[in-house]
Amino acid sequence: METSQEHSVFNIEAIRQDFPILNRKVNGKPLVYFDNAATSQKPKVVIDAITHYYSSYNANIHRGVHALSQEATDAFEAARKTIQKHFNAEHAHELIFTSGTTHGINLVASGFTSFLKENDEVLVSAMEHHSNIVPWQMLCERTGATLRVIPMNNEGDLVISDFDKLLSSKTKLVFVNHVSNVLGTINPIKFIIKKAHQVGAAVLIDGAQACAHIKADLVDLNADFYVTSAHKMCGPTGIGVLYGKEEWLKKLPPYQGGGEMIEEVTFEKSTYAGLPHKFEAGTPNVSGAIAFGAAIDYLNDLGFDKIQAYEDDLLNYATEKLSTLEGVKIYGTSKEKTSVISFNIGNIHPYDIGTILDKMGIAVRTGHHCAQPIMDYYHIPGTVRASFIFYNTKEEIDIFIEALKKAIGMLS
Ligand SMILES: *Cc1c(COP(=O)(O)O)cnc(C)c1O
Repeated sequence: METSQEHSVFNIEAIRQDFPILNRKVNGKPLVYFDNAATSQKPKVVIDAITHYYSSYNANIHRGVHALSQEATDAFEAARKTIQKHFNAEHAHELIFTSGTTHGINLVASGFTSFLKENDEVLVSAMEHHSNIVPWQMLCERTGATLRVIPMNNEGDLVISDFDKLLSSKTKLVFVNHVSNVLGTINPIKFIIKKAHQVGAAVLIDGAQACAHIKADLVDLNADFYVTSAHKMCGPTGIGVLYGKEEWLKKLPPYQGGGEMIEEVTFEKSTYAGLPHKFEAGTPNVSGAIAFGAAIDYLNDLGFDKIQAYEDDLLNYATEKLSTLEGVKIYGTSKEKTSVISFNIGNIHPYDIGTILDKMGIAVRTGHHCAQPIMDYYHIPGTVRASFIFYNTKEEIDIFIEALKKAIGMLS
């Protein structure tokens, strides 16, 4: 359904004008920003939401009797509702503000400490970001549980038949990303969740890389936990959200103790506040949460269907052009993927390519992308990664391809 606010066509020129940073130059050249998988740029509405908060109603929330505190609390809680509606969660109190994906995963991993015992198993996919591996390894060290890996294949798809074999009554937790930040693969999370539930395991989905491109429907997915960071979806850094099913959030112990998360404190004993406050100790990132809400409104005004169609077109165009260059190897060729391309060219070191592209104003990422197990799988030290989002253009891809040709000429 179209709302009156929605851009009636995908007007790329108008959209680019929403992002002030896209007007700047880097090394004398117009910026071509292809590092969106690391963090996305921010539209003016998001920047304005932060400025407006600090210039007109900055106050601490939830406790104040005064007008500013009330306004700030209302805006903060309205942002929570915006996020709830966006992800189609059943209750607003199932959404916990965090500092980002990493914080959300650590919160859950910490909470499971008393629920796991020796011989229990937890499953991780072979294509996870380090932030969805290390907290679980630490949990296994604390509890004696065993971490097992759902393998992937050469195309960058999970081997689902092997996942099936790994599942058993010992499996207590499964954690998989919705989209891989290296390969772009969109994992079949609904199916994974259904299968895991059949053996009684809970599932955490790392949505950090999906959220700018795919609108997750939490009722439909039936995930137990879903985490993301605002900064990957045009919001600010330092704010994210953890969705947890009410029954799980009630069971999990608080992560941090402090103000805001208590009901009553005496030196003998403290009782904890209800959801969501039990998990939000201390003064939260108020401006960040409000601006996160503004980012989500912005994306929904554009429309996720249109965003996806446009980005698919960019991905296909870039993949085709890149494939014509000699010696290019693309990692991640799943049929279901978002607009991320990881690649190498012959034996040229990714860092050298990235450095030359930077001289031409083009921002890409090089290295292991916080996913060393994927690099080990392909026996490479790293890749060049170009990641596109809805404000990128085919003209920018042409500039990128020409720059790559120059880089190849200089380096081989
Ligand atoms: C970026 C990213 C993370 C980490 O997000 P932070 O904002 O750094 O906490 C985790 N997983 C995936 C798939 C990512 O892309």
